[in-house]
Amino acid sequence: MTVQAMTTEGEKPAPITSLRRALAVLGDPWTMLILKEAYNGVRRFGVFQRNLNIPKQTLSLRLSELCRQQMLYRQYLNANAGTILYFPTAKTYDLQEAMYSIWLWHRANPSPVDPLPFDLIHVSCGKLLRAAYCCTHCGEPATRESVTARPTPSGQQEEARQRLARRNDAAITAALESPNTPIAASLIGDIPCNEVLYRLFQGPQHLLALARELELGQAVLRDRLNKLIALELVHEEKQGRLAVFSVLPRAEHFYPLLLSLAAWGDRWCNDSEPPPEIRIHDCGKLLKARFRCADCGGWAGRGTIRFEPRARSA
Ligand SMILES: [Zn+2]
Ligand SMILES: [Zn+2]
Repeated sequence: MTVQAMTTEGEKPAPITSLRRALAVLGDPWTMLILKEAYNGVRRFGVFQRNLNIPKQTLSLRLSELCRQQMLYRQYLNANAGTILYFPTAKTYDLQEAMYSIWLWHRANPSPVDPLPFDLIHVSCGKLLRAAYCCTHCGEPATRESVTARPTPSGQQEEARQRLARRNDAAITAALESPNTPIAASLIGDIPCNEVLYRLFQGPQHLLALARELELGQAVLRDRLNKLIALELVHEEKQGRLAVFSVLPRAEHFYPLLLSLAAWGDRWCNDSEPPPEIRIHDCGKLLKARFRCADCGGWAGRGTIRFEPRARSA
């Protein structure tokens, strides 16, 4: 399993991966926080500003950029008063799998500060959501052992593009019920961290090979690896003179997050180009995965997920 690094000596074109395309849009902590507020029903500039305590100038720039990226669109409430509302688009709502991943990760890895003061309820069975990220073809979990990522072969590009381009545009203005979904903010907002994790999910790797493949400077890479080690997501082991890095079980829940971000990038961030890589499930099909309720087996998604204030317990 390899992520193609288009390495040419001398000039350094960044390795183009699905994940990088997605993160080029999302990989900014403010951007993700603004989207979280928008998911949660915030529409007005002043409310974004108050909730996030973000400088006006920064907010203004990010909102404009999100409109340009078609993540948000403007609606003029009152032309004379100049009141503008910002609504999320289908492209934004299509990030739901990533949002569920983050929530599930926090459930599995509680921290002293609870960033998620609400629960996700699977409406179909009424239970607190416990879910696995599963292939929609065969229904089996999409794990790092069962998914193979490879560069899109030239002959299959057309087919892959058509299949991956399918998406639901209909819901462009539909409201999502207050998914007050916080972001594993420091991680999701950091492109190198995500790329390092994604690469390590495909097998252990040593520092130099990682640096070469991801085209990251060694200082940057070492810094991110230290961060991931401190978060107990990555393990470092000395093999002779080499430091070899691998993912720890605690990182497992991040795999669906990165997969769903990569899939989102394929659906929305390819312009007219083929997706740079394809991901195949063990069943032989192009991976298309969603969260599946561990209690009733039903799929989780808009309309079947309800957000509730966290029940008081330890
Ligand atoms: Zn499958
Ligand atoms: Zn269920």
